Amino acid sequence: MGKLPTFGVCFTNILTTVLLLIGPAGALTAAQSSQQSPAPQRSRGHGEPTKADILRGAYGPYRANNDLLFYHLDIRVDPDKKFISGKNTIRFKMLKDDARIQLDLADGLSVEKILLGSTPLRYERDSGAVFVSFPETLHAGHIYAIDFYYSGSPVQTGRFGGFTFGQDPSGHPWIYTACEGIGASIWWPNKDQWRDEVESMQISVSIPKDLVDVSNGKFMGKTDLGDGYTRWDWFVHYPINNYDVSLNIGNYQHFSDRLGDLSMDFYVLPEDLDKAKKQFTQAKGMLQAYQHYFGEYPFKKDGYKLIEVPYSGMEHQSAVTYGNHFANGYLDRDWTGVGISTRFDFIIIHESGHEWFGNSITAADSSDMWIHEGWTTYLESLYVEYMYGHDDALRYLNGYKSKVKNEEPIITARGVNGEPPPDQYFKGVLFINTLRSIVNNDKRWWKLLHDFYQHFKYQNIMTEDVVQYFSQQTAMKLTSIFDQYLRHTAIPTLELKFDTSSGTVSYRWKVDEPAFQMPVRVGKKDNWQIIHATTDWQTMPTSLKKDEFDVATDLYYVNVSKE
Ligand SMILES: [Zn+2]
Repeated sequence: MGKLPTFGVCFTNILTTVLLLIGPAGALTAAQSSQQSPAPQRSRGHGEPTKADILRGAYGPYRANNDLLFYHLDIRVDPDKKFISGKNTIRFKMLKDDARIQLDLADGLSVEKILLGSTPLRYERDSGAVFVSFPETLHAGHIYAIDFYYSGSPVQTGRFGGFTFGQDPSGHPWIYTACEGIGASIWWPNKDQWRDEVESMQISVSIPKDLVDVSNGKFMGKTDLGDGYTRWDWFVHYPINNYDVSLNIGNYQHFSDRLGDLSMDFYVLPEDLDKAKKQFTQAKGMLQAYQHYFGEYPFKKDGYKLIEVPYSGMEHQSAVTYGNHFANGYLDRDWTGVGISTRFDFIIIHESGHEWFGNSITAADSSDMWIHEGWTTYLESLYVEYMYGHDDALRYLNGYKSKVKNEEPIITARGVNGEPPPDQYFKGVLFINTLRSIVNNDKRWWKLLHDFYQHFKYQNIMTEDVVQYFSQQTAMKLTSIFDQYLRHTAIPTLELKFDTSSGTVSYRWKVDEPAFQMPVRVGKKDNWQIIHATTDWQTMPTSLKKDEFDVATDLYYVNVSKE
């Protein structure tokens, strides 16, 4: 997502009752088997989820009974009336016999009709959900397609605008979508959750003929509709998140480049063309860096695109949106405060990093969104390492320490729509860097990163999958380490007790996880000694005095207490 994490809305302190209703925090099957909760309508406040948050966040039975295959979103956008209308054709496979499915569309938009072939279907709307009923049972293993017709005036909402009918500085319409968190169903009907993605998608956008639409995927062509409108057709060849699907309609100028056989396309306002041609050259270095660590750009058939927008930016798949003022740093600031982020354009580096983590590898529930944001923030530091070396990467990522709050866990309750706290970025990157120090073998670390990405690419996963993969590949006991950093508030504190008379130091971890054990480098910088600390006291000789005895806190995100 575009950075500047949301501080305003906090809906992460979830009631225990909700946890019980949604099911245990377990593997994918736990969420899949969860039942739709009959929870009463709750008011937002003190982090309590509303009925809408639960309907949208839970993978309820009328979602779990089907598997998405394909969307064709075909809409007409009228800038004068600030009105949209059209349909989404939704193709899905039934996973069990049933006669009802759950889709989602914001209450403010009208459902015109929902058809199975030519048969109109009954539907029931409830707090943003649309429960569609079929006259006869749909059969497991069979594929069905429905046409969901809708219309209305979507509202501008959320941090990035949701759906915005705006204007560019020279007065042309500038219409764009950015709906992560608030959800794609604020502007189009879909199965609005994270676990299930279509395998491919067609996006058709009809707009006044003097405007350009840039959406996700490969540009397939445009058709003059003969009524002053032109339809722009795009095809997404890969699975895609609902929130990544976007429209960007404006008076865009286009230029292009290539990296090997990958097409790179750029769309900006005419007045920014010269600046963009200079600034966007950074996209190549970014792609080279990430391809070096993880392998090929994930959406090659769709190409890589950067599109100017008036908000900071968003990782829209293969159509990354950009609003960072054509300047280095992040919105004219040195983002981690150590003089390194000013060497590159933060939005190009961060938002494009999401192509690997967020878009290709996707969390199956927004509770585990650190898989998007912690990892992509780590990718920023990999870009720095690729360009400027390990020392600068360490300085860059340790600059994030000042942003960490350690007030609530990074992983939030499952099955409730909401966004985890900003620590998912900052503590996330510091944790992943800690993991590298635990592995303590860079050659092995680079292979692990590469293989981890390759193993899970184009999949929707949970933290358990990450933990299991890293544990298996390293043959290390990592579960309690992941749990301490991701599921608790506090970071580990290394307690040190010095005994000058015997020339020894005693050490242990103070943590929430009883089984916690983690090696850490201590002693003198440039001659670190690794101790295998646990939650039990251990003692070793040291020639170093209390204030000479260091801990490698730039390699491990830990507190140190000495006495
Ligand atoms: Zn992000």
